[in-house]
Amino acid sequence: LFVTFEGGDGVGKTTQAALLEEWLTAEGSTVVRTREPGGTEVGLLVRDIVLHHRGEIAPRAEALLYAADRAHHIETVVRPALARGEVVIQDRYLDSSVAYQGAGRVLGRDEVRDLSLWATGGLLPDLTVLLDLDPGAARHRLDADDKPFDRLESEQDDFHSRVRAEFLALAAAEPDRFLVLDASRPAAELAADIRGRVGLLLR
Ligand code: C5P
Ligand code: MG
Repeated sequence: LFVTFEGGDGVGKTTQAALLEEWLTAEGSTVVRTREPGGTEVGLLVRDIVLHHRGEIAPRAEALLYAADRAHHIETVVRPALARGEVVIQDRYLDSSVAYQGAGRVLGRDEVRDLSLWATGGLLPDLTVLLDLDPGAARHRLDADDKPFDRLESEQDDFHSRVRAEFLALAAAEPDRFLVLDASRPAAELAADIRGRVGLLLR
């Protein structure tokens, strides 16, 4: 079972991925929790480039770097775990690229999606949890937790609005793959909804 968490910065993806891992492990599943960019040693080098040279990298080069991270990560970590019958819980996947590099950087959703599918041999998640939150609220949340704004500081507001709208459009186009949740709700409630859906998939 392959579950991904998507959404803008500061919506609570990492928190919910950790809560799901905790629950599944307690239920007896073997879980691999991972992330993109940076789910492998090579990927950490790519993460360093894309995060520290953001704004300088040509948009197409940036998209290719995310795709390279993804290709290596899927082949060396995710596919082997799925082949062993384990559950993979992943913080960000191809929908992030479509939203950030496609809509955010205006490269075009189809090109970016095709690039990701080429990079991964067409692997799609069984379930994608989209945590939807207004970018302003996400920024407040990062601020309150004393976490860096990342992009939120350096990009204009309309960047984040485009990213959010693209995530919602992706979810509307593939309603069976996506579970869309209002991320302003309490974390425990969101976790319960996610457990409900994952539980159905595991039966
Ligand atoms: O979620 P995480 O903190 O790992 O993301 C790191 C940064 O990379 C975030 O600011 C996110 O907006 C950005 N990112 C991106 N394009 C992706 C994935 C992440 O711009 N495909
Ligand atoms: Mg996170």
